[in-house]
Amino acid sequence: MARPSDHVDGARLWRRLMDLSRFGARADGGVDRQTLTQAEIAARAHLVALGRSLGLDPYTDEGANLFLRCPGRRPDLPAVLAGSHIDSQPMGGRFDGAFGVMAAFEAVEAIRAAGLVPERAIEIVAFTNEEGCRFSPGMTGSDLFTGVRTLAEVAGIRDAAGITQGDALAAVLASDRDVPQRPFRRPVAAFVEPHIEQGPILERDGIPIGVVTGIQGTRRYRVTVTGEAAHAGTAERRERRDALMAAVRMIAAIDRAAADPADTKLTVGMIEVTPNAPSVVPAEVLFSIDLRHPDNAVVDRLDAEIRAIVEAERGPCAASLRQIQHNPSLTFSPDLRAAIATAAGALGLPHRDILSAAGHDARQLHAVCPTGMIFVPCRDGVSHNPAEWAEPDDLAAGARVLADVMWHLATGDEVRAVAS
Ligand SMILES: [Zn+2]
Repeated sequence: MARPSDHVDGARLWRRLMDLSRFGARADGGVDRQTLTQAEIAARAHLVALGRSLGLDPYTDEGANLFLRCPGRRPDLPAVLAGSHIDSQPMGGRFDGAFGVMAAFEAVEAIRAAGLVPERAIEIVAFTNEEGCRFSPGMTGSDLFTGVRTLAEVAGIRDAAGITQGDALAAVLASDRDVPQRPFRRPVAAFVEPHIEQGPILERDGIPIGVVTGIQGTRRYRVTVTGEAAHAGTAERRERRDALMAAVRMIAAIDRAAADPADTKLTVGMIEVTPNAPSVVPAEVLFSIDLRHPDNAVVDRLDAEIRAIVEAERGPCAASLRQIQHNPSLTFSPDLRAAIATAAGALGLPHRDILSAAGHDARQLHAVCPTGMIFVPCRDGVSHNPAEWAEPDDLAAGARVLADVMWHLATGDEVRAVAS
């Protein structure tokens, strides 16, 4: 029997990725297709038209997640989903997210070209606002779909121009033509998200397929240090309540604490000083902390240390630490990891286990159904950058693995061909 992967067309996949990259194309070769913008609305209409031309049924929901359904023999069974997102960073690339969605198209077409009809429906999905650059935080679509957040919680979030996410969602949904809406929290049998690695490991090892073991945990904080403004020339140093000096002590101590273990990722990427004037003792400092490690125990230990450091180093200032996000590390379904590794092995494609250092919509789906991710290499590990690049052969390899995995998931043991 023909395998679905035999019908994956790498040239077609590449052409479609390049077609999609025209929506929001930047002069430097990158993509600016931020969520719920005109560029994304046009890209969305393009995908709906492509899906219809292939006989797929488009659906959406109140979060503007886009589904393209390939019916199975058993409409009573929950569908299997494959896809990612089509929104980008303002200085984004052509592959982040887009590859996962277009690979899902390729998988569905390959299954059909092999003359196969799955038991379960297969749905291609593009989740809304994965990136979180226009409306922060991101993962809005998968959060709404899985029930982590409600529409009421995200609708009031505003972009830099003051437009609410609720209004932006309404504009996108109004632009859909005859795309029915379905409720959130529909049962899902499984989800697979193909994605470029956004890191250097697969390219370094010369391996086309990464079997993603899980997603690294993250804690994010905002620390506010409050002192008192004073004259740089007249205020005695021992009398000062210098918010920046306190913040610097905290940051240096947190950096030392995070040195062990060596693979801890600690970033203080934002700092705001008030009044930020050369001759004024700083009255207030706001800074961010982004802490990540695959081992939840390490993150939890450092969480306690960071809290103690903020208290210990504040000196005469007041300090408050607010945790704004906590995503524990997660491990993907062993069955799905095995299915991906088996499919790659059967195709003779070198593969290795790999941890995702970045978050993806797969994190949210993992909470509601067996979930897996397929990584493919990207040049120099560069992503969120117009220079983002992936080799056509690697993308085709990822789509071939996806096609066989989706067929396996959509049929279980009853693999039946309707035509040879
Ligand atoms: Zn992405």
